[in-house]
Amino acid sequence: MRLTLVKLQTTLTGKIFDVDRIRDDFPILSRKINGKPLVYLDNAATSQKPISVINAITDYYKKYNSNIHRGVYSISIEANEAYEKAKENIRAFINAGDVREIIFTRGTTEAINLVAYSYGFTHVNEGDEVLISAMEHHANIVPWQVLCQQKNAKLKVIPVNSKGKLEMEEFKRLLTPKVKIVAVCHISNSLGTINPVKEVIRLAHENGSVVLIDGAQAIHHTNVDVCDLGADFYAFSGHKMYGPMGIGVLYGKAELLEAMPPYQTGGDMISSVSFEKTIYNDIPLKFEAGTPNVEGTVGISAAIDYINEVGLDSIHKQESELLDYATEKINQIEGVRIIGTAQNKASVLSFVVNGLNALDIGIMLDTYGVAVRTGQHCTEPLMDIFGIPGTVRASFAFYNTLAEVDIFIEALKSAISTLKR
Ligand code: PLP
Repeated sequence: MRLTLVKLQTTLTGKIFDVDRIRDDFPILSRKINGKPLVYLDNAATSQKPISVINAITDYYKKYNSNIHRGVYSISIEANEAYEKAKENIRAFINAGDVREIIFTRGTTEAINLVAYSYGFTHVNEGDEVLISAMEHHANIVPWQVLCQQKNAKLKVIPVNSKGKLEMEEFKRLLTPKVKIVAVCHISNSLGTINPVKEVIRLAHENGSVVLIDGAQAIHHTNVDVCDLGADFYAFSGHKMYGPMGIGVLYGKAELLEAMPPYQTGGDMISSVSFEKTIYNDIPLKFEAGTPNVEGTVGISAAIDYINEVGLDSIHKQESELLDYATEKINQIEGVRIIGTAQNKASVLSFVVNGLNALDIGIMLDTYGVAVRTGQHCTEPLMDIFGIPGTVRASFAFYNTLAEVDIFIEALKSAISTLKR
């Protein structure tokens, strides 16, 4: 009964969501691993790509590959149009007010580094504070740590409770006038916790702090409206949202970006250069030094079209159902403990098994064709807080099925009994 529900559901917008048809869009999902169908449950690390994204990228190389910006010939103009169209597509997707607020980066990591080095180095001074949370990915810890070390500022951390929920009362207490920047994730990659980022931004703004939201795990799971959130900066990666690797986005409020110095320098980010002096380009080009990843922009734009076609409400519904089902099943296995049990969660299921090493479990699961991630998930401080060396993490996308959850659960049971022998 449940299977049919998930396979064919009518969504709020009246669209039919047919998971079998959706799976046909992803060529990799028909692969066999160790003679078994691939059960890909490592979507928080990177997502698989629909054929429309793959085709958009190959079309670019087959039909109009060329450098952009100053080309006067047809294919360069076409490439430039594709790049501009991608920016507009992203603007609309996150409801930014102005396309100049969209900066292409290599990914979330580079987007956060851009803000830390450009905004951070010009606004954070000795004695100031930067506030992050205990559940941050290393990409949202290390750039701030470096900034604070170099500026003699202090990095402070909002604690999480035993369920993996942000301690909001502690956040309010830590939010002093010294805090210049608050940087938190929208959704935790290790725990799945969905943070109340709108409230975080509201409180931080009341305090006069600027806010960066690491949206790497949120952009493809939930509707992100940067205007409604009020975020000053919002960062995400193409490869987590069914697009290619090596492309990402930094959204920044125009008035902040305009006042910020460039992060990298070279071609394209200038409007005039002499040996004595350089005049920088306007935003967003001021932050896009060098030849851009045009292939990536075409790919991320096709990924957005794909998400829009499926619908974020259908995606959310399917992923919630998968998470609930997997959580119920895994809770029935003796010795398994879920890490990250906040009520408001995305489709990430992290767990430890009594007496067993996460890595061994991951290797065993691969023999059944099941791909999961094991270890610290680039959140070593968080693992230390939970007092564990790491977890096994199964993360679900809308193209996963309840039948795959069953395969995963059976494989896990077998792995546990083999490893305990
Ligand atoms: N932030 C979060 C929450 C993530 O999950 C990740 C990647 O796993 C990153 C940042 C870094 O993203 P990227 O490696 O695409 O730059």
